[in-house]
Amino acid sequence: MTVFNHVSFDEHENVVFCHDKQSGLKAIIAVHNTNLGPAVGGCRMWNYDSDDEALNDVLRLSRGMTYKNALAGLEMGGGKAVILADPKTQDREALFLAFGRFINKLGGSYYSAEDVGVSTADIMIANRETEFVAGLEGKSGDPSPFTALGTYLGIKAAVKHQKGLDSLEGLTISVQGVGHVGYYLCKHLHEEGAKLIVTDIHQESLDRVATEFGATVVAPNDIYHQDVDVYAPCALGATINDTTIPMLKASIVAGCANNQLAEPRHGEKLKELGILYAPDYVINAGGIINVSFENNYDEAASTAKVEQIYNTLIKIFAAADEQNRTTADVADEMAKAIINSAKS
Ligand code: NAD
Repeated sequence: MTVFNHVSFDEHENVVFCHDKQSGLKAIIAVHNTNLGPAVGGCRMWNYDSDDEALNDVLRLSRGMTYKNALAGLEMGGGKAVILADPKTQDREALFLAFGRFINKLGGSYYSAEDVGVSTADIMIANRETEFVAGLEGKSGDPSPFTALGTYLGIKAAVKHQKGLDSLEGLTISVQGVGHVGYYLCKHLHEEGAKLIVTDIHQESLDRVATEFGATVVAPNDIYHQDVDVYAPCALGATINDTTIPMLKASIVAGCANNQLAEPRHGEKLKELGILYAPDYVINAGGIINVSFENNYDEAASTAKVEQIYNTLIKIFAAADEQNRTTADVADEMAKAIINSAKS
């Protein structure tokens, strides 16, 4: 395993490997860029197959946070943390207290929050050791409903651009992963009259969306080839890859998962096939926008800022068409311009 020569290393400012013998905590914190302000990004807890897989994830996710925060108009840099452990671990107190102590040592250059496998309750535990956490109960709270709102509006922007439609009524949308964000996304989509095809590896979550929103449930591997208008990846990353792209019947890929493209060339492939891709870090910025209102929380102001995701995506789609480039390229360029202008 290399760090500075790692394929996902992108001039990260700080990469910290954390080990606490007593609690068994193994974590990596990556601060990608702080030009716009302290790095902010969630903490993921996952059973990684190797240390290298965890490092790759945290390097990519932290870079994505820099771009996400910049394009969302936030005065925050990008960072992320991963804890190498089973997300179903029952004894979490010692683990998250130790994690909090490591965050604290970074002196406010990195603020953590919840992500896959980590709940607001876990972050509340870390908060006993450090003030440098966000998304707390009684403050901005669970970011997932705001991520879902932004994703729903992003899907509407994609449908407007691709199909010229103002409503999702009668469209069929597949949602891969109906966890924290996927559930609220399904609620919005159902309320607007979209038909839902869903999958997950967690039966209770599937039963809930089937009962509440009349969603059709399919097996995890069957989600890609469904005859749908929109495919919304809302589980883990890299689901747009050499194997899945040939199966897609959707003309839009728009969901909340981070790092949806296995490699940048998969964005090119989607473009070639005429499939419109909503860049992941743009469409899923709702949660971090809400977190940015942590102090002096104002739900109406937060919601209004999340709603801007619609227009940002419309601009990216139009520029990509005009310049004959991928939407991912256009988004990266717009984000880099903001980050570099802050530096200068
Ligand atoms: P979550 O853990 O609550 O939900 C993920 C769901 O995906 C779970 O229900 C899980 O069982 C399911 N899943 C895992 N592997 C799967 C597979 N192979 N096939 C089908 N389902 C599978 O996480 P979340 O908070 O809802 O986040 C979902 C995605 O959105 C993640 O990629 C996360 O990084 C991203 N995201 C979340 C937020 C947020 O506010 N929570 C913000 C931005 C981005």
